[in-house]
Amino acid sequence: MTSLAGKSAIVTGSTSGIGKGIAEALAKAGANVMLNGFGDAAEIETQRAALAASAKVKVAFHGADMAKPAEIRDLVASAGREFGRVDILVNNAGIQFVAPVEQFPEDRWDAIIAINLSSAFHATKAALPGMRQAGWGRVINIASAHGLVASADKSAYVAAKHGIVGLTKTVALETAGSGVTCVAICPGWVLTPLVQKQIDAKAAASGLSPEAAKAALLSEKQPSKEFATPEQIAETALFLCSRAADQITGSTIALDGGWLAQ
Ligand code: NAD
Repeated sequence: MTSLAGKSAIVTGSTSGIGKGIAEALAKAGANVMLNGFGDAAEIETQRAALAASAKVKVAFHGADMAKPAEIRDLVASAGREFGRVDILVNNAGIQFVAPVEQFPEDRWDAIIAINLSSAFHATKAALPGMRQAGWGRVINIASAHGLVASADKSAYVAAKHGIVGLTKTVALETAGSGVTCVAICPGWVLTPLVQKQIDAKAAASGLSPEAAKAALLSEKQPSKEFATPEQIAETALFLCSRAADQITGSTIALDGGWLAQ
């Protein structure tokens, strides 16, 4: 098992879903972790304290709004002050909004591009100098199957996720040979609050039961008809931090139950 003892990580959007799973896995492997995301302050503090106690590492929290560049810079600086260095940056925070392009609200477009794409640029820019100095670093971008193919009614999300795959390749080229790698993980459907909202909307629009709407959502895109789990994505992130992954850079790794093979 990969040991990350002595290393430190930032996982954006780690108060829920995939980010939470990744933060837990990195902490359990020995890394100090900076959590980030929205939610109830008392619940976040309970999550932070429980992870610190169970993993026996330092776990901190920074409430940066990933739509705001100055707050993102402060998140990275504060992790550096807290832990001495940022070795692993997981750009995970993300939101979704579904509507045809003619009806897509401009403020939702701007928010999705800011949170799902530009935030990764700002965080990577702030974290890279320290990684280069250390001669080791990992930038792990949580893209999506929608980073490689499109679906109707998701213009902003698909544009942002294709963008983050492009950013991944560029950062990989600029850091090649420095000990820093940059990889995009492309999940298919993962049952998190982000997807539950889409299941609820499908059920409401079609009159299907929640279970039938879930099955319909899966069979439309994901041949395995099974969700990928936050734990599987977290283990993939952990693998990307291992020595085996030293030469994996600029690439995409899909956990999509066959979605992209079609
Ligand atoms: P989620 O809704 O469970 O978690 C999203 C996290 O991002 C939460 O912690 C939330 O507080 C945080 N967040 C949202 N807006 C923020 C902001 N402005 N500033 C700071 N934090 C903010 O969603 P999830 O499914 O775990 O999604 C995580 C990532 O995985 C996203 O980038 C998403 O696009 C991607 N993804 C999800 C799926 C899926 O099927 N669930 C598939 C592919 C990719």
